[in-house]
Amino acid sequence: MTPSERLRDKIRDVPDFPKPGIVFKDITPLLQDRDSLRIACEQLASPFREAKIDIVVGVESRGFIFGPPVALTLGAGFAIARKQGKLPWDTLHQTYALEYGTDRIEMHRDAVHDGQRVLLIDDVIATGGTAAATAQLVQSMGGNVIGACFLIELAALSGRKQMDVPVHTVLSL
Ligand code: AMP
Repeated sequence: MTPSERLRDKIRDVPDFPKPGIVFKDITPLLQDRDSLRIACEQLASPFREAKIDIVVGVESRGFIFGPPVALTLGAGFAIARKQGKLPWDTLHQTYALEYGTDRIEMHRDAVHDGQRVLLIDDVIATGGTAAATAQLVQSMGGNVIGACFLIELAALSGRKQMDVPVHTVLSL
């Protein structure tokens, strides 16, 4: 089994979660398997090893799982981007369109400093709306978004086309 096949094998498809028609990519079996967890974190970080990343920004909520080990590998810090109303201190936000209505992503206003080299991370890129809004928010704070990495790309949804930064994905499903 190749490393990619091993990771693929540890992702569980859950139909109709959290709502009808969505096939949820459940990464918990992958996290539970020590070799898969190590391989996933290594492969997320690998294109950025020489990129002098200052800070990894994890997108709620599964970006918070992969972000810290990738940040440690890259010698970077870690910051969080959360859904509306979850952060305790002063925030900046970016609004983005959903199929119906809008949503917004928020960060503490001191999470990224002017000129810092930033890597975005999440488990899945679907439509790309969340990641694109997070990249815009980081850029509005003066951050230099060097790239975005995801464990899983839902290729049929073409989310990477929403992104104006280089996108690295470990698995295209
Ligand atoms: P999007 O903005 O459409 O790219 O959605 C990205 C966010 O929704 C990420 O934080 C993902 O964790 C989550 N997400 C979207 N679709 C799925 C899916 N099929 N399985 C698991 N998570 C998903």
